[in-house]
Amino acid sequence: MEKGTVDQIWKKVFFGCCGAAIVLLIPGLALQLSPALYLALGALAAAAFAVGLVLAIRGMRCPFCKKSVYHQAMRAQEGVPFTCPKCGRKLEVK
Ligand SMILES: [Zn+2]
Repeated sequence: MEKGTVDQIWKKVFFGCCGAAIVLLIPGLALQLSPALYLALGALAAAAFAVGLVLAIRGMRCPFCKKSVYHQAMRAQEGVPFTCPKCGRKLEVK
């Protein structure tokens, strides 16, 4: 059976956005910021995380049936195939 691939760039985008969210939260934890500034940084961090999540869910789709395989792809190791939950085809993160 033909094997599909899911672009691992979306995994990196997701982890990059998580990293950005953490970086945004560090000043709030380390410094004595005003509550308003702390809230603004928290909102930015949440937005960065949400953008990464949405991009990863939209980007990591089964190439055959277009179902998002985000959960499977995030857990899959590089080079270890997993199965699309909808159409049952073998997919690989590359
Ligand atoms: Zn599929």
